Amino acid sequence: MLTGMTKNDKPVLIYDLDKSALLEWVLAAGQPKYRAGQIWQGLYQNLWDSAEEFTVLPKPLREKLAEDFTFSALQPGRILNSADQETTKTLFWLPDQKAIEAVLMRYDRRRTLCISSQAGCAMGCVFCATGQMGFKRNLSSGEIVEQVLYYARMLRDEGLDVTNVVLMGMGEPFHNYANVMAAIDRLNDPEGFNMGARRFTISTVGLVPMIRKFAAEKRQVNLAISLHAAEDERRSALMPVNRKYPIDELIQACREYVEITGRRVTFEWALIAGENDTIDEARRLAALLKGLLCHVNLIPLNPTQKYAGQGSPRERVEAFAGVLERAGIPATIRMRRGMDIQAGCGQLATEAGG
Ligand code: SAH
Ligand code: SF4
Repeated sequence: MLTGMTKNDKPVLIYDLDKSALLEWVLAAGQPKYRAGQIWQGLYQNLWDSAEEFTVLPKPLREKLAEDFTFSALQPGRILNSADQETTKTLFWLPDQKAIEAVLMRYDRRRTLCISSQAGCAMGCVFCATGQMGFKRNLSSGEIVEQVLYYARMLRDEGLDVTNVVLMGMGEPFHNYANVMAAIDRLNDPEGFNMGARRFTISTVGLVPMIRKFAAEKRQVNLAISLHAAEDERRSALMPVNRKYPIDELIQACREYVEITGRRVTFEWALIAGENDTIDEARRLAALLKGLLCHVNLIPLNPTQKYAGQGSPRERVEAFAGVLERAGIPATIRMRRGMDIQAGCGQLATEAGG
């Protein structure tokens, strides 16, 4: 709640406010309703990031804006550019000295952001740098939104915009469900940032109850599931969450999702040499996904400090993809972007000790 805020309170991050909370603040300040619309536009269309820029507002209101809110929770730390300049990774420090990361990937016609939903992650996937550091905390909706605004401002200076956002940075988005959805809703708003739901992709480790909840909401946001193994024993060893939500239950929830929404599910598969990259495993995967409206992304594992596994060599990746193709399962091989700048999930924050 914003009412009753005193100067001693920690300033509120302005991107944490939805439209109605902003309106409430404007009315509490004794100002007409339309001022809320002007502030919203300033934030999400003009991408203003300081109260001084709001010259459309009367001075006292501008001063109150500066007093009651902060316009940035993210302090950029290390910024790394890949050798080809197409991938930029930024480490951000949060006000409580936790670190998160967000990555910009430039393609021919797309600018895709990979953003974080949590500092650290509680899911403990053994191959993942974020999982290896454990859970720190959930990000607020505003902290998720600000990652997008940060890059949107950078791109705007080049006459470009953000075309896609994937929640594949640090953290498990479905473990911070409400804040992730609030952030997407805020960025969706046609009177504000106006980024369509179809341009967002949520990647989940496979929290079955949340997949069901997400399906029931019939959002147009894309859904990706990190599968990585087609047998429970192997998947549980790689991803402890599988002990709670085993493969059959997970795939069943995916089938229901497709039925309810009519939308395709993407499966992520990090190929680990000698572990989950065999022809047999590809056949098991093909059997598992038979008849399901889906797509498989194959990505050679990005090696991390605390896991001995290595990425599969190219010919293995191709052989694996070949099995899926022959079984009629659409699959794409994705070579990881920004390998030279450790653009893999959580790797930069691990280095910074955040
Ligand atoms: N927590 C969510 C989203 C963040 S992880 C999830 O797990 O889906 C984003 C993707 O990167 C997931 O598919 C995850 O399995 C994958 N990933 C994590 N560490 C990786 C690594 N070292 N190499 C390749 N992919 C990795
Ligand atoms: Fe968390 Fe995703 Fe990493 Fe697993 S892969 S530890 S769910 S961030």
